[in-house]
Amino acid sequence: MKILTVLIEYHISNMDNLYFYICNDDISISIGCRVYVPFGHQNIVGYVIDLRHSDLSYENLCQKDNVNYKYIYKVLDENPILDNELFNLAKYMSKEYVAPLISCLQTILPPTYKPAKTSLKEIKYKQLKKVYINENINYDNLKPKQIELLDKIKNNNGILLKDLPIGQVNTLIKYNLVNIKLVKVTDDYFKDYQKKDNFHNLNDEQKKAYQTIIDSNKQVFLLQGVTGSGKTEVYLNLCEYYHSLGKGVIVLVPEISLTPMIIQRFKQRFTDIAILHGSLSSKEKQIQYDKIKNGQAKIVIGARSAIFAPLKNIGLIILDEEQSTSYKQDQSPTYHARDIAIYRANFFNAKVVLGSATPSFETKARAMKGVYQIVYIRHRANNQELPPVYIANMRNEVSEFSYMISKTLDQEINNALDNNEKIILLQNRRGYAPYVSCRNCGYTFKCPNCELSLSYHKNGDKFKCHYCNYEIKFNHICPKCDSQDFLFMGTGTQKIEEIIQQNYPKAKLLRMDNDTTNIKNGHLKILEKFEKEDFNILLGTQMVSKGLDFHDVTLVGVINADISLSAADFRSAELSFDLLSQVSGRAGRGDKPGKVVIQTYNPEHYAISLVAKHDYELFYNQEMRFRHKLNYPPFSYMSSLTILCEKADQACILGDKIFDFLNKYQEFELLGPAFPYVFKENNKIKLRILIKSKNHSLINEALNKINVTFAKEIKERKCSILYDIDTYKLL
Ligand code: ADP
Ligand code: ZN
Ligand code: ZN
Repeated sequence: MKILTVLIEYHISNMDNLYFYICNDDISISIGCRVYVPFGHQNIVGYVIDLRHSDLSYENLCQKDNVNYKYIYKVLDENPILDNELFNLAKYMSKEYVAPLISCLQTILPPTYKPAKTSLKEIKYKQLKKVYINENINYDNLKPKQIELLDKIKNNNGILLKDLPIGQVNTLIKYNLVNIKLVKVTDDYFKDYQKKDNFHNLNDEQKKAYQTIIDSNKQVFLLQGVTGSGKTEVYLNLCEYYHSLGKGVIVLVPEISLTPMIIQRFKQRFTDIAILHGSLSSKEKQIQYDKIKNGQAKIVIGARSAIFAPLKNIGLIILDEEQSTSYKQDQSPTYHARDIAIYRANFFNAKVVLGSATPSFETKARAMKGVYQIVYIRHRANNQELPPVYIANMRNEVSEFSYMISKTLDQEINNALDNNEKIILLQNRRGYAPYVSCRNCGYTFKCPNCELSLSYHKNGDKFKCHYCNYEIKFNHICPKCDSQDFLFMGTGTQKIEEIIQQNYPKAKLLRMDNDTTNIKNGHLKILEKFEKEDFNILLGTQMVSKGLDFHDVTLVGVINADISLSAADFRSAELSFDLLSQVSGRAGRGDKPGKVVIQTYNPEHYAISLVAKHDYELFYNQEMRFRHKLNYPPFSYMSSLTILCEKADQACILGDKIFDFLNKYQEFELLGPAFPYVFKENNKIKLRILIKSKNHSLINEALNKINVTFAKEIKERKCSILYDIDTYKLL
């Protein structure tokens, strides 16, 4: 008889639940395989983490251990689904991020391999069903939600059944509006960005960077190169080098759908590539995953979670735009891809290259201390200067037709349009107006889940919560006083679109934000149009600041630079500097020189004046003085724990106890605006405690202790706790 220790996902819990099962000796099974087991009234999938043998009969064994052992139904894997390196990584993460091992395993594995609460049938499916729209259908008498769904299916040329709300689809089938067909799963899911990049020989500066990284005996490098300096070209050459040694390479990009241009450049050079893409179906992800696992793909490109790619012999890990906050996961386990990269590189003795024009302060500080090696590229590859930046002070130069457009920006837009040049405009807020209130009684529309202001969206005439995606139609009547007179405050991309279209007859504008890109390959379609068709203005949120390499963009305009600057976060200056530098870097990448206009009510703020001078180093030094004074990261470490509970009193009692527990640590500073800080979301109270300390491992130790000491109490009070290690969120 074999006795198996099985990890099972059951309850949202901060601790692992271990269960014991048995199977006969003739069944071949090893640690790290998944098993299909009976569990209460369900049948679920578990993960074997230990295995021992017993010669006793079933009855004697049960009697001796005083357990009524159940037999497993089935072993799902011939071999362990994770090798030792990744399994040990999961164990490390479990400790480091104070998360159950099961959730670390789930984070590392692709969806179809997850030892999750799914039934066997879902895991074993081979064929996928896709929903297609019927021809010549009649839209009369349909609800807006149904029309929206039909449009979505139509625009995507069919959508996988499993990605759709099944109830609604059934209704559509009943009305004979859609049909379902089986689809063959192919590997060819990723629509290529149709632009061929020329093959470049590295220039001297690039060559030097490349050679330094290869020759140095350091492990981690900060590749700090200005926008357009050809960092991607250096990545490609490094890739080629390690690839030729037979080693694996992981390339991380911030948000993969935003970076089709980079992917295309890799695809042109390498054939054994796997791409792990957030919008792939589970099956598609598995195909990519298997390609990596069986050695067919040696180069992996993907977003954050691609850091867990099951490559066997890693030689190089690259993080492009390493400062991007998308590398930090804010759900448990709250890992940062940079830390996982360094951990894995250590195991393989591989190199890590952190690339950026505006590195995160954490990385820059470590590099200045010599923990990482800095490699600079100070010039653009095309030898153009960085574009001149003009700061428009909105206090005294708004144009006649709109308080959102300065006289200078107006003039530059007209010039660019007259010369058939292209323009990128950044307004980092989507929707039409972020706040709406009643002019009569002052009522403001708020999300019932989050209590945050609802944004008004003109398309569809509705309110959306940008935090939890709650949506409701606007009926133009105040729920409090029945007035029909409203005030639309603040400005989102939709309002800017309207202003541009009303005032520039030559403008052909594309808007890129979450609302226009939520279809498959949505970003790609917009970028291709901007490149090939006669669109001349690309307007969008921070999406337009990333990775775009259009040679005929000569003007970049920032409509309101104060949006990110005014965020209540000690990182707001750093994040603003980064965003403004990134978007400025989109101008003048071809032969024609570029120009940037930044509009602001804070022209004297150093984050803005130093972006205009392209002086990252001075900005870094100045901002570091501020961080030092207040002992903020990178001079200290900051982690948080958040108690979630439906009952406020239970959360508060537990919160007080944990607060007292943490307060005993001399080296900790517990801080914030008012702590414990209470906040409501989705009917749950969130109570948050922030811990600041110079001692990282002591924070970790304390949090792990809390998890054990308070385990029973957390459960009894029906609370759960999220530990956010090295948190990015001040609030
Ligand atoms: P970054 O990632 O640093 O912003 P890219 O790698 O996108 O810069 O390069 C910017 C532009 O310069 C691209 O259009 C690229 O094709 C071009 N480029 C890069 N390296 C060279 C080179 N050695 N010679 C000529 N053009 C280059
Ligand atoms: Zn009112
Ligand atoms: Zn909400």
